[in-house]
Parts: sequence; C-alpha cells; structure tokens
Amino acid sequence: MTIAVPDFGLDLGPELEAGMAEHRAAINSIAAGPWPPTFADTIEALERAGGRLHLAERMMQDTSYSRSTPAVQVLEAEMLPRLAAHRDAVGLDPRVFARIADLVARRDELGLDAEQACVLDRYHRDLVRAGATLDPAGQKRLREINERLSALAAQFRRNLHEETAALAVRVETAAELDGLPQPMVEAAGRAAGGDGFVLKLSLPAAQPAHAHLHDRALRERLWRASVARGRRGGEHDNRATVAEIAALRAERAGLLGFGSHAEYAVADQTAGSVAAVVELLTTVGAAASSAARAEAGRHAAALHADGHSGPLEPWDWPYYAARERRARHAVDEARLQQFFVLERVIADGLFAVAGALYGLAFVTRDDIPRPDPDVRVWAVTDADGTDRGLLYLDPFASDGKQGGAWMDAYADPAPLMGRLPLVFMVLNVERPADGGPALLTPLDVRILFHEFGHVLQMLLSDVTYPRVAGINVASDVVEFPSKLYESLAMRPDVLARYARHHATGEPMAEADVAALNNFARDDAPYTSTQGAANALLDQAWHGLAPGETVAPDAVDAFEAAVLERHRLALPAVGLHYHSTFFIHVFDGPYPGTHYSYLWSALLEAITQQWLDEQGGLTRANGARLRGEFLSRGAVVDPIDAVRRITGREPSVGPLLERRGLLRAQG
Ligand SMILES: [Zn+2]
Repeated sequence: MTIAVPDFGLDLGPELEAGMAEHRAAINSIAAGPWPPTFADTIEALERAGGRLHLAERMMQDTSYSRSTPAVQVLEAEMLPRLAAHRDAVGLDPRVFARIADLVARRDELGLDAEQACVLDRYHRDLVRAGATLDPAGQKRLREINERLSALAAQFRRNLHEETAALAVRVETAAELDGLPQPMVEAAGRAAGGDGFVLKLSLPAAQPAHAHLHDRALRERLWRASVARGRRGGEHDNRATVAEIAALRAERAGLLGFGSHAEYAVADQTAGSVAAVVELLTTVGAAASSAARAEAGRHAAALHADGHSGPLEPWDWPYYAARERRARHAVDEARLQQFFVLERVIADGLFAVAGALYGLAFVTRDDIPRPDPDVRVWAVTDADGTDRGLLYLDPFASDGKQGGAWMDAYADPAPLMGRLPLVFMVLNVERPADGGPALLTPLDVRILFHEFGHVLQMLLSDVTYPRVAGINVASDVVEFPSKLYESLAMRPDVLARYARHHATGEPMAEADVAALNNFARDDAPYTSTQGAANALLDQAWHGLAPGETVAPDAVDAFEAAVLERHRLALPAVGLHYHSTFFIHVFDGPYPGTHYSYLWSALLEAITQQWLDEQGGLTRANGARLRGEFLSRGAVVDPIDAVRRITGREPSVGPLLERRGLLRAQG
C-alpha cells in the first residue's frame, strides 16, 4: 500500500483536461471490452478509472472552499458545467450499463464475495436510479427535469442569498444592542462599515443574537426579517421555486417507478421505509413538543415578570432559554474556552481517544507538502505499525475560506489500487493573537470531534473497492460515526485528558464538566421539536405524488398544515427553517432524507449506551466498533452492525433518554 502525496503546485486547468481525457479513454475501453463481461474487466476497471480526474476535482473544490481566489473562481465557472457534461456522457454510457446489467443477471454464477456483490449492486443501482432502464422518451424527459432542477436549485440559492443580504437588520445605536456580547457588537459594527450597526442574518429562523438581546422590540424585528426571507413577494421570492422543485421531483420519481420523491430517496437508505421514517419523527416530535409545552410555561412566566404582556413569542424563546441555562449552570463560555487549547485538544483528546479505542498513532510530518503553511499533516499508523494514511488539518478562519467545518479526502481508501486514504479536515477556529495559544469554544471542540469521526471511518476502512469504502455509505447513516465521536468529546473521562487551563494547567472543575454535558439536554425540547418538524416538512414536500402540486401562494398554509397534522404547531417554537430558506432539501443533498440527522442520532444513542455499560474507551470496545462497522464501509447493513455491536434491537428509547425526553413522552 502506498501514499501518493498530491502535488499542490499543479496547474489544475490542464490537469482536469488530462483527467477527463484519461477517464473517457478508460470508459471507452471498458465499454468495448470482450463479451461476456467479467467482474474484473467491468466493475474493477470502473473502480480504477478516473483517479487523476477525481483528485484534480477534489483539489479544485478544496481550493475554492478553503483558499478561494479570483483565479479559482474563474476556473470553477469554466470547468463545473464541462465536468457535469463529462459525467453525463461517460456515466450513462449504455454499453457500460449493458455489461453491468449482464453481470447482475448472472451474479449467482460469478462467485462474488460480499464486497464484490455490494459494489456490483451499487453500480447497478446508481445507473437504474439515474434512469438507465427508461425508454428514450423517458430518458429525454428525465434529462429535461434534471436540467430544470439544477437551474431551480441555483435560483433558490441566489434568491436566498439576495434576501439574506437585503433583510439584514440595521440598528442605529449601541444602546439598542444591550446584552449582546462584545465580539458580536464589534462584528455588527464592521458589517455597518462604521455607520451604526447591522445584524446580518444566519441561516436558521432564530438568530445567534436572539439569545442575548434585552430589547424585545429588536428581537421581534430581527425575527420577522429572518422568517420573511423568500416569502414576501418581489423578484427574489422562493415560494414558486420551492413548489416547482417539489413537483418536478415528484414527476421524476413517478418516471422511475416510485409513488413520491420521498419513496425514491428512502429506497436507497437504511431506515427502511417512509412509514418507518415518519414513525420515528412523530415519536421524537411528540416527546419533544410535550416537554417544550412545559418549558414554554416557565419562559412565559419570566417574560411577564419582566413586565411584558401577551403570549411568549418565537423571538422570546432563545432569550429566556439562555437566561434559564445561565441561572442553572452558572457558567459562561468565555471561561470554558480557557480550557480548550487547540494543540492539546488534538493530541490529548482527538488522537488519544483514537489510540485508546483503535490503537491508532499520529506522527507529525513536517516534510510532506501541504496546500498552505497553516495546514498540519500527520501520518497515521495502526497498532501493529502499518500505515493507515495521511491526515491534513486546516484549522484557522481566514479570508477566502467558507464558514463552518467539513472533511473530505484527496484520495479514498482503495486497497484495490494499493492506495491509502488522504483525508483532510477544515475548521474555522479564531486565529490566536501573536504568540498566544489557539483557544476553542465548546462548540469548536464538538465540531472538531465530529469531523474527526468522519475521518476515522476513512482511516479505518478495510474495504477493497473505493465506491463502497469509508464514508461512501447511505446518507442516513453517514452521520452515525461522527455523532458517536462528537459525544465522546464531552465525556468526563475524556475531558479529564485534554481540558486543561491554558495558563495554569489546571483541570476543569466538576461543575463545568457537568454543565457542558447538560447544555445539549437543556436545549433538547426546543431543538428536537424543531428538528422533527423540519424533517416532517421535508417528508411532506417530497411525499407529493406525481402530478400533485402546491400553489406558490399556498406554501405558508402547506407548512402550517404539516405542523398541525403532527401536533407540532407550537407558536413560540416555530420551524428551524421555513421552506423558502430550507436549503438542505431545496439546494442540498437531503431532499427526502433530512430525517438522517435523527436516524444517525438514534443509532449513536444505542451505541453510546452500550459503550457506557461495557466500560467505555477500551481496545476491546474499539475492536468491536471497528470490526463490525467502521472498517466495513457500505458492505454491512448498519442496523445489523448496531445489533451485533450492542446485542440489542435499535429503538428510539436511548435517544429520548439521552435528550432527557423520556419522561415527557408518557
Ligand atoms: Zn457530519
């Protein structure tokens, strides 16, 4: 197995051209291969094809997301449509599909092992789901739908972008911002360019400032601006866009033989069926909303005690919830941050836990080329000393980097080609002042562990075929390993390893450890009600039958009916995303599968419970997680894997219990 380190000095334009030419030639030679096809000359050959193109595409995307320049923007604008055309041309080659279909028809006589059967099925299913078996008229209509959908997705994104900018809230005086933490006041000042203040809108309905602003009228103004996005008329209204996207997806699902887009989406997932998904969502929604109703009473009392009258409103909830949390835990984030030094969180947290569970070791490699001097590189080795791949980490926020955190790979794990994975993680940690340590917020720490959970599924992969290796699993379980690792971060025995005061080296006080563990639980009634409501809204939009439509001016009523139907219409809670800015499903990877977050959390909760009962972070527990699930990519059914790991049937109980919602359910 070898490590082929990328050359970050490459001129990506010519490299993409060369990659496309190589890929096309490889596909042509597969298509023209001898008949009958074999697994090796078709599936294995497809797996080997396109490596150069794949790497160049990942490098272009990484540059664009992490170190954007005018040059890479020009390159992307030119190359993205051509890459899409290339994928269409080589991806749906009928000669290649004929070979795959023949292999599927003869699968019983091919003597395939479980991995080979899985990768053959994956290729076949991808092509069937993309319309390979439709007649020419059907394929023509499918192409039209796909083209229209990609234009609509771009329009959705553009409209949202315009509305988000246009609806930012102007504030004239600092006094109105009373309660807002100083860094947020400064950011609002910068956003206004020195003339007053501007509160920019972030994606969800509730804004970060809602938890802090004492001025109730300003909270209301901010809320109304946020939820008006894309649904107030005018040229950037997204209601017609959303309605047309949903109708076209329903039509496409019908062409492909499904009753709705949700059925089409869930058929390729692990949760089983649309009915099982809705059952999970309504169970969590019922438990969470019942707890939220009780909580609403407390916040309404606090609101009235402040001298306000009338009902608790959605712009009040985050404010009174934050106040209650502060009173309960007497803890503030600025103090906790002093205990989270980046280097220490990585070495004594992230890596130490991977060592305890899986025996992995991480060695700094300053000699290996990297895309930017800030990026750090480690070589990863197994307990027996064998190489597992490379990890790149790009930690700091900078101009030209998108917000948020993510991971990806320059190369997927591919024993078929003797290739080890090259995985990278990108964060947006505040760059430290000169000479000072880089301090993380509790949220930064969780995010770091979360992304590293994805990284581990790549580094621990033992699957031969890259298409079904590592994180190339059904999207409704892709967040399971990341959520699992994320929740390890706040375990008291893990915090004891890495949470030390940057100046004194003191460990974190027990009360702070407890507070950190209670934060998510405190928010659960609110966040789980919204989470279930949004996933049910996704199911409703994508549950439309072919031919069924929603009129643009009925979008608001459609949303209200969904909440009403599932008894989640809590006026003071509302939706996390209204349809007109629900980007995950209208311009993102989750149409019909927004439930994935809860489904992965359900699997994670059962596994955590088992881990606690079995003594926590031991090599034996790690070996079980690794052997049954983390090393096996898409080759194992994750539900079976969780059954084998924990010895119990997956159910929603442990999830409700971890979120403190079990009692509320009864
Ligand atoms: Zn994730």
